[in-house]
Amino acid sequence: MSESMSDTGTIIKRARQAGVALPAFNIPYLPIMEPVIRAVRDQDSFALIAVARLEWIKFQSQSLAAVAKEFQRWDDPRHVRLHLDHVPVIDEDNLRVDYLPIIEEAIGLGYRSVMVDGSRLPLAENIAATLRVCEAAHAAGVPCEAELGAVLGHEAGPMPPYEELFRSGKGFTRVEEAARFVKESGCDWLSVAIGNIHGAVSQAARDQKKVEARLNLAHLDLLLKATGIPLVLHGGSGVRREDVLGAIKRGIAKVNIGTEIRQTYETALKTGGTIAQAQDAVYQRTIGIIRDYFGNTGIRSAVAG
Ligand SMILES: [Zn+2]
Repeated sequence: MSESMSDTGTIIKRARQAGVALPAFNIPYLPIMEPVIRAVRDQDSFALIAVARLEWIKFQSQSLAAVAKEFQRWDDPRHVRLHLDHVPVIDEDNLRVDYLPIIEEAIGLGYRSVMVDGSRLPLAENIAATLRVCEAAHAAGVPCEAELGAVLGHEAGPMPPYEELFRSGKGFTRVEEAARFVKESGCDWLSVAIGNIHGAVSQAARDQKKVEARLNLAHLDLLLKATGIPLVLHGGSGVRREDVLGAIKRGIAKVNIGTEIRQTYETALKTGGTIAQAQDAVYQRTIGIIRDYFGNTGIRSAVAG
């Protein structure tokens, strides 16, 4: 790869080969950026720093440009890369999104990898949308993540009972569909549904504690075999620890973490803390997450060479 190309694709591939995963920390509030990057550096780890569209629309990360600017203030290329998380084709409020210009803006701003989420579409339409974004991303040397299956939680309204969801496997990424999806869309990484759920973002539910999700690791094995590309676990907050570790061991190469960090920050502010105190709480929580899920695995030496 030439130097102008993003190396995030290589980094994720190396993680997959080494049997480690990179955390991707979401930034719903700009002051979260500094303590997260500091924690990653202090743990000598490696992480993606991510923002999803709903985080500048429903939370306070303001815009793609604001997040990129804040990232550049604290950037440390030995430890972090900037990633564009969920740009949905149909959003959590069921509205169509003009997704391609958002992706193109991010690439122009220096985001080193992107995600398009067509998971609310029928299979063929998800493939078509993902293919469009992959072509634009690849032309700029940027890897593209996609989602197949229903990683629920972002939508407003009550969630179906978790145990029932898990037992029935309803909404799980289907193996044959995943094989076809990867082949036809050309996506580089795939976010799969294997029992994981997103943290709620609706105003009514965003403060609630997430249910403890579990993962169907046998199903993950089938997906890994069928797709042959790095798979991604969204909704990493609140999943049973042994299941996350099992998923990483099997081949999940990236784990998204949003809710835990966000709620840590919000709780600190709500209980009378200053922004500096809330940032310190985020720093401590990020350290804890890296230690519990990503620690002692030599992530940085594995991925950054
Ligand atoms: Zn997600």
